[in-house]
Amino acid sequence: MQIESKCRESLNGLLQKGVTYADVRVHLVDKRQSIGTMCGSLDSQSVSEEQGVGVRVLFQGAWGFASSHSKEDVDWVANKALENAKSAAKLSAYPICLLPKPIIVDNYRDPSEIDPFSVPLADKVSFFLDLDKQIKREGLAYWGASGSFYKKEVLYMDTEGSFIRKELVDVDGHLYAFANDREGRSLRRSHNLFYDAQATTGWETFLNPQLFSRFAPIISEELLTLASAPQCEKMTADLLILNNQMALQTHETIGHPLELDRILGYEMSYAGGSFIGLEDFNSLQYGADKLTVQANGVIRNSPGSFGFDDDGVAAQNVVLIEQGVLRNALTSRQMAAEANNRLGRTLFAKSGGTSRASSYNRTPLERMTNINIMSGNDGSLEDIISKMEKGLMLDNPVSWSIGSNRENFHFACEIGWLIKDGRIEKMVKNPAYSGDTLPFWRSLSKVGSQETWKMEVVYNCGKGQPNQIMRLGHGVPVCLFTDVSIG
Ligand SMILES: [Zn+2]
Repeated sequence: MQIESKCRESLNGLLQKGVTYADVRVHLVDKRQSIGTMCGSLDSQSVSEEQGVGVRVLFQGAWGFASSHSKEDVDWVANKALENAKSAAKLSAYPICLLPKPIIVDNYRDPSEIDPFSVPLADKVSFFLDLDKQIKREGLAYWGASGSFYKKEVLYMDTEGSFIRKELVDVDGHLYAFANDREGRSLRRSHNLFYDAQATTGWETFLNPQLFSRFAPIISEELLTLASAPQCEKMTADLLILNNQMALQTHETIGHPLELDRILGYEMSYAGGSFIGLEDFNSLQYGADKLTVQANGVIRNSPGSFGFDDDGVAAQNVVLIEQGVLRNALTSRQMAAEANNRLGRTLFAKSGGTSRASSYNRTPLERMTNINIMSGNDGSLEDIISKMEKGLMLDNPVSWSIGSNRENFHFACEIGWLIKDGRIEKMVKNPAYSGDTLPFWRSLSKVGSQETWKMEVVYNCGKGQPNQIMRLGHGVPVCLFTDVSIG
């Protein structure tokens, strides 16, 4: 019997046994390959591949979940999930319900041209070894280039009648170099592949030099200058944040605190609390008027676009913050319904389609899609620098520390440049800055125009127990903040 028929039969069987709702996800293909070089040699090459089926059952207000690495086990998995839901129902204090959603019968395919798994291994290895050669310079301690490739084919069906097939292809890439400064302390400079939102997600992404290879010689030249640069001094000044660091700033102090499960007090591990309360929506001034943030899961080519989430809800573009005011959160059917019930009114009219699981053997959680800051009208990077009297520009995270409710933060970065009288004066090493989330975003004074906007890739966002590593994106412009505590 075809797998689709087997799944349909299992779901029908569950309905006959009295479940409120059930869904099945079959990972028909789930592949990952990684290649890494170091100092002119192939350092690592790994391939992992798995298949499996997971079934989620809602019975008397409680979830049950089960999975198997064999998709042929779907009926056993369905019954095991029901058994688990029955056990959970005896202990459940809060009956789970789901917001309604449209029935969807559809296919989704990422817009990729060259399947990275169709490119011969030898070609991929020589591509990264060539980049490794371009990074190499006298005076570096070590350096390397790496890439990872992902391919998934997922079948989703539920008891409400949705039937969705997804083909997802993604890539990510990294360039790095390390050198010691005069005091013998290690410094790093790196570049992560970013995406061109107009292009595609396959191997061809690597072949666009503007996104990746162009940076191989740049990072080593900058690192060698950095190795003899002065230390960044403590000061309170204007801070101009470039794209890669803007992505982390957005991720940690907008993305995570706006996950609705965390707002409701779930998923507290990994600094999982949120300073946001349900009463804050449509009233809290999160940032300056110049701050508009979208959770955009429908950008054609981006790491956080996936067609349909694992609740079977279509990906959407949701405005989270509109001209500084908090408007929405990252929501699933379950958490949106629970928030409305707790409030006694409808705050979330529908799920925002952000419920995703990293594998067939994990349950979906609220995950970021592409959490994007809309570009502004303050011009190019050069325009913004030219209007700065005194300040610091920086990029690329090295380390970060975040308050347990995301109310404050401290970030250290790879590289900084002191700016004086509208010009870059000099490079400084070990720049760091800290702030309180709301005052910081309210101090946003300039937002770069569209030409400064880039889609950065986060390939390792962790959440959940057991842990789920998720890919997502942050489309961000360069941004200027005033009176920031630096150093
Ligand atoms: Zn994260």
